[in-house]
Amino acid sequence: MKQPDRQPEVLSPSDVARRLKGDLPCIACGYNLKQLSVLDVCPECGTPVRATVLSVVDPYATVLQPVRFPWIVAAGLVVWSGAALVAALITWVLRAVDVVAVLSESQIRFAPLALLGAICIAGSGMASAVLVRPHAKVPAWQSVLAACGVLTSLGAAWMYWRIQGVHDPVHVRPFLESVTAQPARAWLRIETNGLLIVSLLLLRPAARMLAARSLVLRMGRVDRQTMLAMATALAVATLGDFCRLGALASAEPFGTALNTLGVVLIAIGSMLFTLGLFGVLTDCIRIARVIVRPPASLSDVVEDSP
Ligand SMILES: [Zn+2]
Repeated sequence: MKQPDRQPEVLSPSDVARRLKGDLPCIACGYNLKQLSVLDVCPECGTPVRATVLSVVDPYATVLQPVRFPWIVAAGLVVWSGAALVAALITWVLRAVDVVAVLSESQIRFAPLALLGAICIAGSGMASAVLVRPHAKVPAWQSVLAACGVLTSLGAAWMYWRIQGVHDPVHVRPFLESVTAQPARAWLRIETNGLLIVSLLLLRPAARMLAARSLVLRMGRVDRQTMLAMATALAVATLGDFCRLGALASAEPFGTALNTLGVVLIAIGSMLFTLGLFGVLTDCIRIARVIVRPPASLSDVVEDSP
């Protein structure tokens, strides 16, 4: 906890006579501390008023660039991560449908679901455009990288459609009916994952800049380097595809072992990627809240002594 270290920079001796302006609910019991001195304690529960002030004041509030269209940027962040998560879950449903179809020896296909998945990825990519220039004084290189990241994710949406919507409906089911790799599908997967990895890396600087607006994320208490971890998860899955392609050209029993390793890597990489999307969505919701309701500075919370 860095809280005690930050106390002096937030409350200097000249602040002692200051009173709280506006409504400020006590962090412990919710009692309205309005008009109390910062030296007081909460009359209801005895928690020092300073504790509540420190919990709402962001010492960087006055240096953060104002976001011009906060609701658009906040919505863009949530749609970017949320739609990507929906696309990932749709892909799991498509594979689950395969399992059901094979077990029940039926020919059920959920083609519209593949289209919906591609639309979600495209929507996610378009929403990520809010990362290009969310406020003034964004470095030009960062805007250019983010714009390229948006285009790359649109390319990934197109590749996703080519796998799930064009390839799969006219081929035997991957992993189940075709135990070995289907080369065309493996290469499409490698290209899709490659585009997604590049998109993540290109959008990452812009996403981290916005994440720094959240006091909690900036203090490193919840920063999980999620986007790097997700790029790594995709790289693991892609390595799985290369293993399966290599298995096709390998003699037995080495080929079977390599193919099995490939399937395991794809499963692990895909699961970690999906988990990472949950983490990114959580962080994006947190950042969106800060953007819509900017953090308070000390002068926002207390009024100058008369
Ligand atoms: Zn209280």
